[in-house]
Amino acid sequence: MLADSSSLIIVGLVAVAGYVAALYVASAFFVWRDARRRSASVLFQLFALLLGFVPPFLGALVYLMVRPPTTLDEERAIALEQQSLLEIDDDQVALRPCPSCGRDIEAAFIVCPHCRTQFARRCHGCDHVLRLGWSVCPYCAEEVGHAPLGRVTRTG
Ligand SMILES: [Zn+2]
Ligand SMILES: [Zn+2]
Repeated sequence: MLADSSSLIIVGLVAVAGYVAALYVASAFFVWRDARRRSASVLFQLFALLLGFVPPFLGALVYLMVRPPTTLDEERAIALEQQSLLEIDDDQVALRPCPSCGRDIEAAFIVCPHCRTQFARRCHGCDHVLRLGWSVCPYCAEEVGHAPLGRVTRTG
């Protein structure tokens, strides 16, 4: 039955062609959608769409190599992060290493937030930061007594 076997081959070829065509359209669609996430430029989106279709499959591979490394969302996040870093720089927060754990903490801190070591306290008369060894406040002459060294186990 020659007719039967040849029609079977045709059905098989159509199935394979349909499968490849579906993959082809899907890869082009992926490229176009990815390009829209990575660039607001319509020209670039059109270029990506074209590359997604021509040459088939290879164009999608080429697109993966030339596409912008970050999406627009990622770029926004990076910009926000740099903005906040700049704002911290503007505040000129003085940092110093914690005498106990060595991590950078603000110079005005009296307790290390990382290892909870207390290395200074505040005068209850004038609110200046005092060393733990001082028994009198050098700013307002308030008697502050000797504070025990140790770790802060709870706040307040
Ligand atoms: Zn520390
Ligand atoms: Zn004082």
